[in-house]
Amino acid sequence: MGTYTLEERASLRALNNLVPLMVIVLVMMLLILVAVLPPAIVLAYFAARRTTRRIKTLAEATASVRAGSYETRVQVQGEDEVASLQSDFNAMAEALQDTMAELSAERDAVTQLLASRRELMASISHELRTPVAIINGHLESLQSRGEVISSEALNHDTDIMLGETQRLQHMLDDLFTLARAEVGQLDLNRQPVDIGAVVENVVRAIAPIYWQKQRVEVVVDVQQDLPAVMVDRVRLEQVLHNLIRNGVRHTPPGGIVALSVCDGDGQLMIQVKDTGQGIAPEDLPHIWERFYRAESARQQDIRGSGLGLTLVKDLVEAMEGTVSVESQIGQGSRFTIQLPVV
Ligand code: ADP
Repeated sequence: MGTYTLEERASLRALNNLVPLMVIVLVMMLLILVAVLPPAIVLAYFAARRTTRRIKTLAEATASVRAGSYETRVQVQGEDEVASLQSDFNAMAEALQDTMAELSAERDAVTQLLASRRELMASISHELRTPVAIINGHLESLQSRGEVISSEALNHDTDIMLGETQRLQHMLDDLFTLARAEVGQLDLNRQPVDIGAVVENVVRAIAPIYWQKQRVEVVVDVQQDLPAVMVDRVRLEQVLHNLIRNGVRHTPPGGIVALSVCDGDGQLMIQVKDTGQGIAPEDLPHIWERFYRAESARQQDIRGSGLGLTLVKDLVEAMEGTVSVESQIGQGSRFTIQLPVV
């Protein structure tokens, strides 16, 4: 062993004193590593697993939406980036579901419209074919009888043909008005009108005809000093004609069709009441539908097209009014129109 200077010996002593300290520090660092590292690794493992699981759920939800299950949603967990991805996914799925629901409702409406168009065309051609076939049949029979036709037979045939021509005319007028109403081109000319006077005039003009034809009396009772109502006079007359014609058609000889006009709760009320056969409860909800004719009307061969009441409803509603019906089999029917006062 060599000899050391005094300074060297002092340094060696200081170094010797440091060794245990460094050993202590090293041991403590080792202890800290052993205590902290395993839990950190475990925590990191679980965090990664949770994130992977949430992303996998999102991927499955996306596939389910793509397959058409628009109601699919994921549970938002936590507040990290994956959680905001989850809530964005839910918002997107919600918007997609709403849009798909709207599209499907529109598609159903178009399908229904096309079906009702087809039905309407079929009904129109059927309804038009009947009077045309009757007129044709009578003309052919007249032609085949040559010159030996009694005036009585001729009158009979021409009466039938005239009746069928008028029926066709009514039907075409009603169809034309309904078609215009449907495309919003009814062109109502609404002005303040004295409804009482209009109803009285209509009744005065047609009562003698119905009495002569069917022995049904058409009467009217109008309350005095009624306020004016904004209506299209011509359309209102069309409504009244349809209701009175129906009343007379379904009332046996000796019966009455009574019209009344009165004021009621800020509305003007027109009623058309008959003492006829009435309408069966099962028919009541349908009588406003196009071409609907009650079974009893068909069985009794009461002529009609099934368009009259559809038109009444469309016209009254176009004038911002309402129309309703009450009826009892064997007692009669009462149609009530309510129109807002000016
Ligand atoms: P129609 O041209 O067949 O009379 P409407 O639409 O005017 O067509 O009426 C539909 C159906 O409602 C009629 O076929 C009839 O069965 C019934 N109806 C309408 N008004 C009356 C009434 N006043 N009394 C009894 N039944 C009626």
